[in-house]
Amino acid sequence: MPNWNRTQLGDQPVLGLSIDYPIALDKSMKTPFDAEIIRKDFPAISLHNLAYFDNAATAHKPQVVIDTIRSFYTTENANVHRAVHHLSQQATFKYEESRKIVADFINAANEREIIFTRGTTEGINLVAFSYGSLLEAGDEILISTMEHHSNIVPWQMLCERKNCVLKVIPINPQGEIIEEKFEELLNEKTRLVAITHISNTLGTINPVKRLVEKAHKTGAKVLIDGAQSAQHLCIDVRDLDCDFFVFSGHKAFGPTGIGVLYAKEAILEKMPPYQTGGEMIESVSFSKTTFNSLPFKFEAGTPHIAGAIGLASALQYISQFDRTQIAEYEKQLLYHAERKLSEIENIRFFGQSKNKASILSFNIKNVHPYDLGVLLDKQGVAVRTGHHCTEPLMDFFGIPGTVRASFAFYNTFEEIEKMEFALKKSLRLLL
Ligand SMILES: *Cc1c(COP(=O)(O)O)cnc(C)c1O
Repeated sequence: MPNWNRTQLGDQPVLGLSIDYPIALDKSMKTPFDAEIIRKDFPAISLHNLAYFDNAATAHKPQVVIDTIRSFYTTENANVHRAVHHLSQQATFKYEESRKIVADFINAANEREIIFTRGTTEGINLVAFSYGSLLEAGDEILISTMEHHSNIVPWQMLCERKNCVLKVIPINPQGEIIEEKFEELLNEKTRLVAITHISNTLGTINPVKRLVEKAHKTGAKVLIDGAQSAQHLCIDVRDLDCDFFVFSGHKAFGPTGIGVLYAKEAILEKMPPYQTGGEMIESVSFSKTTFNSLPFKFEAGTPHIAGAIGLASALQYISQFDRTQIAEYEKQLLYHAERKLSEIENIRFFGQSKNKASILSFNIKNVHPYDLGVLLDKQGVAVRTGHHCTEPLMDFFGIPGTVRASFAFYNTFEEIEKMEFALKKSLRLLL
C-alpha cells in the first residue's frame, strides 16, 4: 500500500490517484511505484542522511545507470563507427541503440532526429549557432522572462552577430506567460520562439503545445528547453509539434556530460554543422569536404559513448514506472511542502501557477536565502539558494534570490516534514 493516499493528505485535487492502483497498473504492465522501495535503487540517497531537494540542479543516479557505465568501461570500451573489430561494433551498436531509446522516450519520428550533446546548454548553443546562421538582420527571436541563462545568452550573442532582435514575453506575478502579450509579439519577422517547458525557479509548466500552435501560425519555429520536463512529464515531441527539444541527462537520473537535441529532420537537413572534425564528415580533401548524414553531421569527434549508454539506461529505468503516477506523487510532495511551509510566518512563495511541477521557491522576510541554505544543510536538508541562473526573473520579482526545494520521486513526505522542522529551527536562530 502506498503511504500517500487521499485521506492522509487533505483535500487537494488528486488527479487520477487511486488507492487500488495495482489494478490500473495491470493494464499498462508497469512496475508498481513506491517511493520507499525505489529509494533503495539510488545508492547516494541511502548513503547520506540527507533530504536531497536539489533535484532541479541535478538528480541522483540509480544503481542500474552506474552499473551500465561501469560495465561498458570494464568489459567493452571501444570507439564507435570506426573499426571493424568486434568491440567497436558492439560499442557502435549500443550507442545507436541508445539513440533509439531516446527517440522512443520522446516519441521522435526516427533516430536521425536525435543528436547527442553535452547537455541542454550545448543543445541550445548548437541551434543558436547553426539554425541561427540561417537568420537575417531584423529577424526576431522570442524568449520569456523566466528563461534560464542558457536560454538567454546564446540568443543575445546570435542577435549581436546577425543583427537580429531579441524580444521577451512577459509573465504575470503568478509566474505564468501572458499569452495575449505573446500573441502580440508574434509577427512574420519572428523566426524562433525559445521557451522553457518548466521553469527551473518557479516550477511553472508552460502551455508549450498551445504556444507552438500559435507560433507556427506566423511561421516561427519553436525550441523547447526541456531541462526540467524530460524527467517530470511524458514528452511527445510529435504531439507538441515543437521544432527543437533539448534536455540534459544528469537531471533525468542519467550521467553528466550527455544531453539530447531533438529537431525535426527537415530542419536539421537545412542546418549547417555546428562543430567540425572527425565523424561528421563524409569525405575530406583540401579542396572540399562533404558532410555526413544525420545525425552524425552534428556529432563531431568521439562522442560521450558511455554517457549515451548510461542515459539510455536512466530513461529505461524511469519508463518502467507509470509516469503519470510519478507525476501525481511529485505533485503531492509539492502540495504537502506548500501546506507545511505556508504555516511559517512571513514566507513568500514564488511561482503560483495553476500548472506546476515539484519545484518550490520561497523567501522569508528579513532572512537571506543563503543563511537559510547553510542552516538547512547543517540539519540534513539540501536546498538550492540564489538566482538559479535566472537573474532577469529575480529582477522581475525584485529579489536577489530564493530558497528552492525541488523534489523527485525518491523524496518522501517525512523528508518534507524534516525540512519544515529544520526551517522553523533555523528561523529561531536567525530572527
Ligand atoms: C539546468 C537547466 C539548463 C542548463 O542545463 P545544463 O545541464 O547545465 O546544460 C537550462 N535550462 C533549464 C530550465 C535548466 O533547468
